[in-house]
Amino acid sequence: MKAQDFDVVVLGSGFAGSIAAMILQRVGRRVALIDKARHPRFAIGESSTPIANMVLRDLARRYDLPRLVPLASYGPWQETYPHIGCGLKRGFSYFEHQRGETFKPSPAHTNELLVAASSRDRDSDTQWLRADVDQFLCSEAAHVGATVLEECAVQEIHRRSVGDWIFDCRYDRQRLKLRSSFVIDSTGEAGILPRSLGIAPCVERCRTRSRAIFSHFRNVGSWHESLNWLGGCTQDHPFTCDHAAQHHIFDGAWLWMLRFNNGLTSAGLVLDEAKYPLELSRDTSTEWDQWLKCFPSVAAMFATAELAPSPGKLIRTARLQRRWSQFAGDDWALLPHTAGFIDPLHSTGIAHSLCGVELLVQIIEQAWRSEALAGELRRFDQTIQQELDIIDELVAICFSTFSQFELLVIASMLYFALATTYERLRYNNQTPLAFLCADRPEIRELLQIAGQILREAASIDTPAAVAQVRRDITALIAPINHVGLLDLSQANMYRHTVAPQ
Ligand SMILES: Cc1cc2nc3c(=O)[nH]c(=O)nc-3n(C[C@H](O)[C@H](O)[C@H](O)COP(=O)(O)OP(=O)(O)OC[C@H]3O[C@@H](n4cnc5c(N)ncnc54)[C@H](O)[C@@H]3O)c2cc1C
Repeated sequence: MKAQDFDVVVLGSGFAGSIAAMILQRVGRRVALIDKARHPRFAIGESSTPIANMVLRDLARRYDLPRLVPLASYGPWQETYPHIGCGLKRGFSYFEHQRGETFKPSPAHTNELLVAASSRDRDSDTQWLRADVDQFLCSEAAHVGATVLEECAVQEIHRRSVGDWIFDCRYDRQRLKLRSSFVIDSTGEAGILPRSLGIAPCVERCRTRSRAIFSHFRNVGSWHESLNWLGGCTQDHPFTCDHAAQHHIFDGAWLWMLRFNNGLTSAGLVLDEAKYPLELSRDTSTEWDQWLKCFPSVAAMFATAELAPSPGKLIRTARLQRRWSQFAGDDWALLPHTAGFIDPLHSTGIAHSLCGVELLVQIIEQAWRSEALAGELRRFDQTIQQELDIIDELVAICFSTFSQFELLVIASMLYFALATTYERLRYNNQTPLAFLCADRPEIRELLQIAGQILREAASIDTPAAVAQVRRDITALIAPINHVGLLDLSQANMYRHTVAPQ
């Protein structure tokens, strides 16, 4: 059987694989984009951030993909693609709940944290209804000329020599053979390329240990309205706290809530796996219901909620963390979500994936068929390794502080300091940058020291000791604190973290 010839085969047509395929086709490579499923299909990982939007906008401009630009902010998205499911995300909101107790708002906002990521709705970040967004981006890849094969099962991958890949597939009830010089794996958790190459997993490198239960719901009550009803001072909020990646913090766990414009809400419980190991004897909905019952104000929001038709069930994972030991070779590369995954805390996934796409397509564009390619791919591998290390450290530090909200607020500021530093550097044209500046030794050192301070602090709870930790971390992050993070006068309500648009 004669193989169809391509320069690059991209496995997986999530948003990352589709954008990579569309750019590479744009710069002259012949690309095949393969997915085992057909769009639209359910996918999790929906909350964008300023970094994600900056990278998306730059990619669209650099590679002449103007149809992608409106997806980089809420207003233009609504004007251009009202049919693509979306939610308004003005920033991040966090609320601390006590087991068995109704949430008690405090006038000083000691159990709340709101961090604005944009200053008005029009420029704001978005929640991506992935079924719609991924379908659109996959069709855009076809629109620019990539060969898109949905419901295509890759049965075997052979690497006959460097730069000579053969894919044996089942497509449209027939056998299909593809040949390519390069392969990009964007199949996420499936990781079909590292499995076929026998790359060793190395999850033991991850400090974070968490698992999740999540789904999409209809008729979830508004937390903003609940807070008003409970006497909360929502007039101090820099934005409506529902228009956010909303985090409800429990001891050893947290719940995300992301609202879309069409009445859907994405909600997921993330549990410290060391504290709450998975018990298969307890079914998923029992475990979900038991958790909600422990936190009455959260349970009240779900009183009228029902599962949305897609996915139509609660999904429970084992440990979320996964990581391969090698992310690229001479003629292959894994996009970030295939290389590894840490945790949804701080919504790093979309931004990290787009940063990975940006770096990889630039390498393939500039070093294609040159001697420099292998070295550049080693640099790509090293960068993604450093980025996953930084995300892991940021999340693990936060998990160690979940029982003391004040410490969690301090720990979260490490993420905001790195994110806003990245935004500023990028705004000043310092690209490409490693996600969260993870390639800078001074950043890695800073995080290591912060981790030490906060992990030790997790066992102390006197106000004086917490105040000392706050002072230590404030001093530590001073060189990368451009937006007044940890300023007590802000009373956990941060209005101005925004990089110039
Ligand atoms: C529980 C959870 C919550 C998250 N929350 C957030 C969040 O709030 N914000 C955020 O930014 N990120 C979040 N993420 C991360 C986010 O999901 C990822 O960054 C994102 O999905 C990566 O997109 P992708 O296109 O690389 O891969 P994926 O979305 O994983 O897409 C993989 C594609 O590969 C296809 N595929 C699978 N197997 C095969 C195969 N054998 N052959 C061909 N195709 C195949 C699938 O059908 C799919 O289309 C979360 C992740 C998890 C697990």
